Order: sequence, then structure tokens, then C-alpha cells
Amino acid sequence: MSRDPRYDVLFEPLQIGPVTAKNRFYQVPHCTGMGHLRPQMLAEMRATKAEGGWGVICTEYNSIHPTSDDLPHPSASLWNDSDIRAHALMTEKVHEYGALAGAELWYGGARTANLMTREVSMDIDSLPNLAGHPYQTRAMDKQDIRNLRRWHRNAALRARDAGFDIVYVYATHTYLLSNFLNPQTNTRMDEYGGSLENRIRLVRELIEETKDAVGDRCGVAVRFAADEQIGEDGVPIHGERRDMFALLADLPDLWDVNIANYSVEMGVSRFIKEAALEPYMDFVKSQTKKPVVTVGRFTSPDTMVSQIRRGITDFIGAARPSIADPFLPKKIEEGRLEDIRECIGCNVCYSGDSLSVPIRCTQNPTMGEEWRKGWHPERMNPSRSGASVLVVGAGPAGLEAAHALGKRGYQVTLADAGRELGGRLPREAALPGMNEYIRVRDYRAQQFHKMPNVQVFLESPMTARDVLEFGADHVALATGARWRKERFDGQVYVSVAAPDTTPEILTADDIMDGKLPSGPTLVYDADSYYMGGVIAEKIKAAGTKVTLCTPAEVVSQWAGKTAERWRIRTHLMRLGIGLELSQTLTSFDGSNATLVCRFTGSEKTIAVASVVMVTQRAPNDSLYHDILAIGDGKRDRLPFTLTRIGDCEAPAIIAAATYAGHRYACELEEAVDIDDPLKHDRVDVGAEAQGTADKSNADKYAETLLRYYEEEIEGEAYFARIAERMTDTAHQEKMMLLAGVEAYTAAVMRPLLDKYGLTPRSEEDLRAAGRAQAANAHGDWRVLIGNMKNTYSAYITAFERLEALAPVEDRPALKIATAHEVVAVEFLNREAANDPDSTAPLHHFLKTGTT
Ligand code: ADP
Ligand code: SF4
Repeated sequence: MSRDPRYDVLFEPLQIGPVTAKNRFYQVPHCTGMGHLRPQMLAEMRATKAEGGWGVICTEYNSIHPTSDDLPHPSASLWNDSDIRAHALMTEKVHEYGALAGAELWYGGARTANLMTREVSMDIDSLPNLAGHPYQTRAMDKQDIRNLRRWHRNAALRARDAGFDIVYVYATHTYLLSNFLNPQTNTRMDEYGGSLENRIRLVRELIEETKDAVGDRCGVAVRFAADEQIGEDGVPIHGERRDMFALLADLPDLWDVNIANYSVEMGVSRFIKEAALEPYMDFVKSQTKKPVVTVGRFTSPDTMVSQIRRGITDFIGAARPSIADPFLPKKIEEGRLEDIRECIGCNVCYSGDSLSVPIRCTQNPTMGEEWRKGWHPERMNPSRSGASVLVVGAGPAGLEAAHALGKRGYQVTLADAGRELGGRLPREAALPGMNEYIRVRDYRAQQFHKMPNVQVFLESPMTARDVLEFGADHVALATGARWRKERFDGQVYVSVAAPDTTPEILTADDIMDGKLPSGPTLVYDADSYYMGGVIAEKIKAAGTKVTLCTPAEVVSQWAGKTAERWRIRTHLMRLGIGLELSQTLTSFDGSNATLVCRFTGSEKTIAVASVVMVTQRAPNDSLYHDILAIGDGKRDRLPFTLTRIGDCEAPAIIAAATYAGHRYACELEEAVDIDDPLKHDRVDVGAEAQGTADKSNADKYAETLLRYYEEEIEGEAYFARIAERMTDTAHQEKMMLLAGVEAYTAAVMRPLLDKYGLTPRSEEDLRAAGRAQAANAHGDWRVLIGNMKNTYSAYITAFERLEALAPVEDRPALKIATAHEVVAVEFLNREAANDPDSTAPLHHFLKTGTT
């Protein structure tokens, strides 16, 4: 299919200063929980979006100096040359797909306490730390401002050297520059405070200096808030922002415009819908000739076109829609709108940054796993067998398993007891504000229409006998979980029914089943995410008096990680729902609930007619145990493989269920090394932990280059010697192919040694060493392949590190060197799985030098 001409405007190229974006799809800066800590995971994730058609791909916030350190939230950094190499991993990949790469330079000011670097934070005045740490800032003097300008300029130069095409001046989100702009915060008496012109002085200087430093090669963007204060949602308080904007309007090459209130800009779908920033943007386009980008959780191409046609924005900015569907632009371009995996606005992606762990996404289980596990949002490893798989349970885990297995080419049957697909999804999506969650089901249900190898059966409750009789080669149970009536007391689950009473105690499931309590109700929320609040709201909407009680100190504690806690509490308070915090519900007798204060132990009772428990969930695993019993409790006695996935294995958030489904599908019939299941992206201290640390990167690079070259020569002799010992000619040929791959790689690396005047040991010595090592290789083919498979994937990482250390011009040769390890590992995996075509990757490499 081809693109609908209505959407042509989205694919127009657009100039940003000296560079041109190939289309209007613009991935704005967004945090990932990876930053400077996980450069390879980050590079591959951004590259996947570039492959998916985004015209511009930006980094997260990039600290320009150690006095701006946000750990435990991992920002990116541009402090020194090693950062340049880390970023170049990303920019090179992004450029391969014809996209532009943007770097957002950032200085945190009073938002950072510099807990890792222990530098003193600086801001406009001696301000309290705005993230709540008991650290204040030092008021910046003129020298500090001069230093900041130099750091910013140097960071811009590093961004350029790392290959970025767009460099940001970041003047929003209550970081340092926004404090200079803000008339309330900026109390300075010098030329940086007071009048509007004075307050914008620093931002103006940074724009001009960035343009001067890198403007010949890079577009200079400014991130700016269109409103001054947080008003009612959708009602902007622009204040003097128009005037401020007018003074700077044509200075940068691009305006990236957002608003003061993060919880609207990045609001969860429960409270904030698509295109929510539109009312704030009314003056922006009319005041500048420069292109503008803004966000709005855009997933509908019609909304995108409308935003452009009505002059609200020039670029379609996106963070979350690009996370949920890195291929969103490609799908629009190819006229495949039904394939778009729409963001549900749950903000689980943001929780990665809050928790300092790599990003994850409810809709897109491959997010963050592109490098570590080699997962791709659109492509799956093809099935080797085309075997049949029965998936029982069509909640998020079962749906994603069936979808991903279908993509791999398995014969899939998905059976569910219910009348509609989705398990927990339609039930939860029917709760107040939660309707967008249904997209998790709808995307997958839509895909099934295109998969003749996936059959869906509803109203099909399965017993162990049914499963056995079905006769599949593989069975996955995704039978979910149900909310418990009990609470967990820290050691065991306990009932809250008062002794000698049998009061009706409801659960969240009862409410979702439509069973509403009639009298005053206590909702007891020990889950601490969104469910307690929405259940309380649902009951309140029926006209019932409701109190939400939680043992936590705050309402919906975990929702703080998804940046919705504050809103949830405000919302519940405005609805008139009573709150009891830090209280444990210990008993209920049908008319009184007893609550115990978690601090003092004091008891109180509140009169309620009903209690609804939102505590923990019990896995629905009886089918699993019934099936196991058929094999006398042993899975390997069953005529099929049996696996539990999702909530029926371990209840968790929906994102964990889609991940579990995807992982099951990806790994089925594949050799998975459970001792070393994923690649490990972390600071590499080098082969010799002691001694190399003090060496300069150039020395380390030269030394590693030489060593790896020598290992290739040794490797060639090693494989050739093993081949000599083999009796099976097919095995001999395979070993000789590996020897050939080593020789090819050595030849590619040799010019680099000459370039740096590096002299390897004599070829004779190296070959003798390789042959000697072959004496230790196992004589049994399967064991030999298994041993190699377990060790060789680490070599890929080693070569990637070498690439990261290398100057840009050496990287093409080193990419080939990395590729030789990738194809070797692929060969070993295939060989271990008895693939008749196992040598294909090696032949391909010897022809093309690529994977
Ligand atoms: P998850 O979040 O792990 O995907 P859900 O609770 O959302 O789990 O979904 C579980 C689904 O499994 C429900 O739709 C339920 O109807 C279905 N189910 C549970 N037990 C059986 C069974 N024995 N046979 C068929 N379907 C089942
Ligand atoms: Fe959207 Fe949720 Fe995925 Fe974030 S985690 S991109 S909010 S679906």
C-alpha cells in the first residue's frame, strides 16, 4: 500500500538552519534511564527509531559539566572526549537512516544536588534544591556565568564533533536557564536580572555563542515554555512569555515549545488527551519565521496534519508515540495505519528515569532491548520449525505471545474462557479515564487479522484434559491473576474479617464485574499504583460515600514514578473521596473497619458498610498445576513444552505481561544461555583491570587494536588446527570457514596497525600459539560448539568497545571486525540448533564484510 496523499505534508523536508530534516517527524529529547550509563543500549534504541522513519532523533538532557549532575536519574553527558565517542555510537547509526541527530545541552541549577560528583550546585541565587534534597545552591557570580558560557560552548563543540546536527539551548522545565527567565525567581540586581531584556540576556548569549561555535554545521534549537504559570488545564497564563519570545523569535534555527506544567505536557491519558498543548501555542507560529516543534502524544495522522495545516506547529514532536511505535512514520508512509501501535499514555516509560533503570514500554516490549537482546519492534526471528503452539489466556501476556509467535511463523491457537479478547484490559479500560488502555488489546487483535497462522477461540475455558487432547507441540499459559480478599502483613496473607464474623469483602475484580457496594465504602489500597484510585472513583461515581485508605504515606505511591501521583490525589480530593494515609486495615465486621496507625499503633474505627480490597493478586495457576500433575509433576514427562507467562507466573504491571509474552515467543525453540541471558552495557575497565585505567584512551586504543589483531592471526591458526583434527569433512569445512573469517578480519585491521606504527609479534609465533590453544579444544563437535557459543558473544561486546574507543575514521574497518564476531555467534547459534543453513552468515560475511 502507499501513502494517502492527505498525509503528504507530513513527509515534506524542512530546513533547520544549515541542516534539513527529511520529514516532519521529530523525536524530541526524552529521558531513557540510560543516559551516560548505557551508551550502547541507547544508541541502538535511537537507531531503531531512525530506521522507523523519524526525521530527527534527539538525545535526552545532556549535562554540560559536572556541576550539573542528576544521578540517580541518568542524564546523558558532554563533559569530555569519551562522551563524544559514546554519542558517536548513536549519531552514526541515526545518520545511516538519513535522520538528523539532536543533542539537548542542559544545566540543572537548583534541580540538581550533584550527589554523584559532589560539586556545589549553582543557580541564580542561594536556592533550595527543587527536587527536595537538603542541599542549596550557590548564587552564581559573574565568573560563574562566564564559566557556564564556556562550558556550554565546549559542550556544543563536542556535540558537533560527536556528529550531532542540531544543538539545543534548553531554557525550560525549571532548570537553570528558566530560572533566569522567570521574573519571580530572578532576583538578581545585575545585568542578568530585573528587566525583561536583562533576564533573557543569558539565553540570548548562549544562543549566539552556540551559533558562533557550531552554527555553520548544526541547527541551533531552543526549548522554551509558552506559558508562565501553571493554570487550569488547557487555560494558558502566558504572562510576559509572548514578549520574551518576540525578543528572541528569529535568533535560533528552531523553536521547541512546551509548557510550564509537566503533568499536562507529559500527562497520563487518564487526565490528559491527545494534542493538549494546542491552546498554549496560539501566539508562537505568528511571531517567528523559524520552524516550530511541539508535542501532544500524537498518534493520529489526521490530528498531525490538522496541527500543521492550522499553523500550530511545523514538526510533529513526539516522545511517547515514538517509544510505543518507533515505526510510526514508516507506517503512515506505507499506508499501514492499522499497524500503528498507539501509545496508551500510561507513562511507564518515564518510570525508567524515575527509577534509574533502562526505559520500558507497555505497548512496545522491545523498547530498551534493541541492543541487549537484539529485539526489534517490527521483526522477529523466524521460527525454525513451524511447530504448533497453544496459548491459553488472551490478556496482555497471551495476546503478545500469540502475536509475536504468529510473526515468527508458528501455528498458533489462542484460547480464552471470556467473551472478548484482552483479559484484564477491557475490564480496566472500562474504569474512569482508563479507556486508552484498550489499545494494548486492539493493536494485537488487529494484527491477528493479517495472520492466517493465528487462530483465536473465545468462550473456550480449557482444562488440563483439553490442553492434552489439543496436542500442541508447545503450550503457554497466560491465565492471569485475580485480586485477593486478604492483605499481606509483611510475612503472610491475612484476612481482615473480624473474628466470628463473615462480612462481605469485595475486591477490585468484583467492582470490575459490576458489583457495586451500596453503603459507605472503604477502599483499602496496598497496591499503591493506579487501581485503588480508579476503583474508588468508580464507586464514588455511583453516588456512594468513599474513603481511600492506604498503609503508604501518600496516595498511589508508585504512581510517583509515572508522574501522576500528584494528579491522582488532587483528583480524588476534588471528587470528595476521603483519605486515610499510613493506616493498616486490620479488621472489618460488616459495619465498622478498624484502622491502625503505622507510626504510633493507635487504633480507630470508621463506620462503613463495605470494604473493597485492592491489595495483592493471586496467580491463576491451577491449570498449570493440573497439567503438571498429568506428568507426575515433571514438565519433561509431558508431550509438549509447558510455560507460564505474565500474571499467572508472577502478577505485575501490564508492561511486564507484554514483555513476558514477547520474550516467550522470541525464545521458543532458541538456545538461551540462562547463565548469561543478556548483553551487559556498562563501563568497561578493560582486559587488565589494573594498569589500563590510568592510560590515555589513545594508548588503550592502540594497545587493544594490536592485541585483537594478533588474536585474529592466532584464531586463524586455531580453527585450522581444529579442522585438521576433525574426521567429519562437513565439520572440517565449518572450522575452515571460521579460519577464513579470522583471516579476512586480520586483513581488514592490518592497515590500522600500519597507520599507528604498531608492530605485532611474528606471524610464526602467533600461529604457533593458535595451534597450541587448539589442543585444549573439546573433541566432541556438539560440546565444542556449545563451549564456543557460551564464550564468543562476549567478543562482540569487546569489539564494540574498541569501536567506541576509535577515532571516527577508523570505525568502518572496526565495524567489519565487530561484524565478524556477530556472524561467528550467529553461526554457532544456528549450528547448536541443527540449522542446515548454519554457515550462511559466514559466507555472507566473507562476501560482504557485513552481518
Ligand atoms: P495477563 O496480564 O497475564 O495477560 P490477564 O488476567 O489479563 O493476564 O488475562 C488472563 C486471561 O486468561 C483472562 O482473559 C481469562 O479469561 C483467561 N483464562 C484464565 N484461565 C483460563 C482457562 N483455563 N482457559 C481459558 N482461558 C483462561
Ligand atoms: Fe506510551 Fe505507556 Fe509506552 Fe510510555 S510506556 S510510550 S506512555 S504506552
